[in-house]
Amino acid sequence: MITQIESRTTERKVKTTEQLTPITVAYGDGIGPEIMNATMKVLNAAGARLEYETVDIGEQVYLSGNTSGIGEETWTSLRKTKVFLKAPITTPQGGGYKSLNVTTRKVLGLYANVRPCVSYHPFVSTKHPVMNVVIVRENEEDLYGGIEHQQTDEVVQCLKLISRPGTEKIIRYAFEYARAYGRKKVSCFTKDNIMKMTDGLFHEVFNIVGKEYPEIEQEHRIIDIGAAMLAESPEKFDVIVLPNLYGDILSDIAAQITGSVGLAGSANIGDGIAMFEAIHGSAPDLAGQDKANPSGLMLAAVQMLVHLGQADVAEKIHNAWLRTIEDGVHTGDIYDSNVSSECVGTDSFADAVIARLGLAPDKFPVVKYAKDAPTITIKTTPTVPAVKELVGIDIFLYHSDRNPENLASLLKDIESAGIKLQMITNRGTKVWPNGFAETFCTDHWRCRFISDEPQGVSYQVIIDILQRLHNKRLNVIKTENLYTMNGKKMFSAGQGQ
Ligand code: NAD
Repeated sequence: MITQIESRTTERKVKTTEQLTPITVAYGDGIGPEIMNATMKVLNAAGARLEYETVDIGEQVYLSGNTSGIGEETWTSLRKTKVFLKAPITTPQGGGYKSLNVTTRKVLGLYANVRPCVSYHPFVSTKHPVMNVVIVRENEEDLYGGIEHQQTDEVVQCLKLISRPGTEKIIRYAFEYARAYGRKKVSCFTKDNIMKMTDGLFHEVFNIVGKEYPEIEQEHRIIDIGAAMLAESPEKFDVIVLPNLYGDILSDIAAQITGSVGLAGSANIGDGIAMFEAIHGSAPDLAGQDKANPSGLMLAAVQMLVHLGQADVAEKIHNAWLRTIEDGVHTGDIYDSNVSSECVGTDSFADAVIARLGLAPDKFPVVKYAKDAPTITIKTTPTVPAVKELVGIDIFLYHSDRNPENLASLLKDIESAGIKLQMITNRGTKVWPNGFAETFCTDHWRCRFISDEPQGVSYQVIIDILQRLHNKRLNVIKTENLYTMNGKKMFSAGQGQ
């Protein structure tokens, strides 16, 4: 339901003669209403030229029977305003509720999640005094498709989908962002030593697109060592671009090591619509106690003002916020008697920022935003369809007999002219031919049949083989066609093959 913001916050101080930009606002759950009230107070006091449409999303919407936690009126409002300032929400446990955040990002095409993580040493205690990292997380793909299936009694799967255009968009965004905001280096983290095709594609596109930005230093690291280095020496990094899951995890780590997860805001950018939020969740442990740090949402609102071309207001709020931090006025999560002067609640922190509007920080560099927000336009390379040749099939079976030799002799019976059993794997590891007795086997088998003809096989051969499997009462869970594209094999080998 859309309601008027005035009922929830302090009076607006915006001059009515000014052109106001409509935005959609959600107060969320847990600490959401408190940090949003604090943020709105500051926006209004700073003279943000905004008009608010407030929507209800989250826990109550889920519990009313809407499994996505977001109603039709919210989509209508978002399509109209194209800007969303959103407090964190609580996803109820169990009951098949889909993450509202993931749904919003994906449905609205908000492909780039931009999360600046900055240290405020010496005013906020941190082991990493020199840190100013922007995490650019891909937002639409990867394991966040949430495509999961229980396949056998023992095995569940989640599909990891990485697309070339999706990857190109996020990699280009990272480089364009670096160029627009004067950043010097872009790092890319993947696990392509293991996932050679999915993460390998991300890495490959990084290498290709990176050539168009020769003035920007670029590097690729395997995610595990990259994450360890980020946690140890964040000053070595500038912009980091990552696939969705790694980006989600690393941005929380990066925010936390600046001093508190409560300090970081984020922007979710799409071609036409953008959403701004704190990176943390609804912190139910702090809800209703006036203890939460509203800084993450306030800094997200600053990113939003820059996006909307209200650089003057963004600067005013950001500089007042820095001055508040410098003056030692801190919420409990960052309060440290060695550096803080006052421990305040959520609401008083907002008052402290308001009291400093118009002041600049003394020690931190003064923030200056360009009058017009840099426009980042992303184009993707058109896809040229490859010449595809069907050369075989991976057939996934449920089979409770754990002896791969027995299964192989059943499958050898159904080979035909043109297609032969090449290998059997269990959870990716080759167990036939010449498997190891030590390999632990579940009830989930991948059986690869490959064409022995140079020209590949017809789909009819695949259908016939499935028919013969059915006749033998073997349980097919799913199949995956095996192709060559432009003459190159486009499927991975079995481990140990
Ligand atoms: P969380 O981020 O809510 O809390 C993790 C820890 O950080 C808690 O100890 C909390 O007290 C602290 N914390 C978080 N924000 C803080 C702030 N502003 N000031 C001070 N301390 C703060 O993560 P969680 O506990 O894993 O998740 C709680 C709920 O939030 C879950 O329902 C989850 O689904 C949801 N969630 C929502 C979003 C979102 O809406 N964008 C993101 C993450 C989690």
